Amino acid sequence: MSFIKFAYYSLIILIFISCDAKSYDLLIQNVSVIDLENKTVQKHNILIDDGIIIRVGVDSVFKDISAKKIIEGSGRYVIPGLWDSHVHLMEEVNYKNKLADFITYGITSVRDTGGNLDSLKIWNEQIKIRELRGPTIYFAGPTLSGKKEGEAAFTITIEDTLKVQSIIDSLSTAGVHFIKIHDQVKPKVLEEILRQAKLQNLPVAGHVPFGTSMEDASEMGMASFEHLSAMIASLFNKPVDPVKNFGLAYAYMVGESGEELYKTLSINSTFVTPTLITYKRITDAEEDEGVRNMGRRALKKQQKIVKAMVDNDVTILAGTDFGIPELLTDAGQSLIDELRLLSQSGIDNYEVIKSATLNPARFFKIEDYVGLIKEGYKADLVLLKKNPIEDIDNLLTLNYVIKGGEVV
Ligand SMILES: [Zn+2]
Repeated sequence: MSFIKFAYYSLIILIFISCDAKSYDLLIQNVSVIDLENKTVQKHNILIDDGIIIRVGVDSVFKDISAKKIIEGSGRYVIPGLWDSHVHLMEEVNYKNKLADFITYGITSVRDTGGNLDSLKIWNEQIKIRELRGPTIYFAGPTLSGKKEGEAAFTITIEDTLKVQSIIDSLSTAGVHFIKIHDQVKPKVLEEILRQAKLQNLPVAGHVPFGTSMEDASEMGMASFEHLSAMIASLFNKPVDPVKNFGLAYAYMVGESGEELYKTLSINSTFVTPTLITYKRITDAEEDEGVRNMGRRALKKQQKIVKAMVDNDVTILAGTDFGIPELLTDAGQSLIDELRLLSQSGIDNYEVIKSATLNPARFFKIEDYVGLIKEGYKADLVLLKKNPIEDIDNLLTLNYVIKGGEVV
């Protein structure tokens, strides 16, 4: 056999082996992929193996590939699995039963901003091995506060800087994914929390502490500000020129001072979780019509503020505060409601979907393998019957939820 012939047959054998030897876990065919980076929608095949997206491309590349499961995606749309970036899965009210509701709405990850460390860790393990149906939980454990509040399991009170290092170290050892703080943390303590958290590579999320301005908290390295309402409250409590009423607070946030603030947040990568839905739920439940109407007008102003933030390149995280009963939000549905409020504020739907996919991955610095539909990314996906870019409510036209490469 001549060398050329030998090479020719070897190649055929090689191709044969590489085609037939492997049967991949899942192939989604002809599905319209919502590309959040390029803001386009393109028909592709998606090949998944071992929980990872290993190939995204057009038909011809996939000709000889075999898969154990094939989903025909014609006429369907696919987005990365959604995140609720602000929940409190507190054990005492047994939210274990609610975890499946997140999946029902396409939420494959949540960021728990204050809860019982022990139960969160157990649930996360059970979810991982699919003993429990629920989202992956990225948790902070107990909230760090400047004064005693709530149950010991949910809050650690820190009144001075002395204990900060040992507390952050022990949380880090316990495996938390970030640190959560509340508004009573004193400026000196905040500084030390941020210093110690940085040493442990843990981002710090929280209410802007009273006595520290948002500009300073951002410069000092807070990774996210939780609740637009808490940001507004911090204006009443900033060390220099505190605002005296809500009219002035709103004027600050939509005016030049707001624009300066958002530039600072953008430069420092300080994210914002507006949780507008909590305000809407409370307003809707208000019995007095006059108060209700006032609440609705205030909500419109808040939407305008969030739009101004996005216009100034602030990164937004969609969250619901699910788990605090008084706030009336629920698992799953409330995230879609929050996304609708963001969309109604005039933010384009690619950005709205990013607030619940790519942006939380960026918060945890895992955006290289979570939050997009790309080769090498975690296969958390939601298939929809209608295009969510055309109408954000189409997020409710769920077809399949895929978590870690498996239909759940
Ligand atoms: Zn909260």
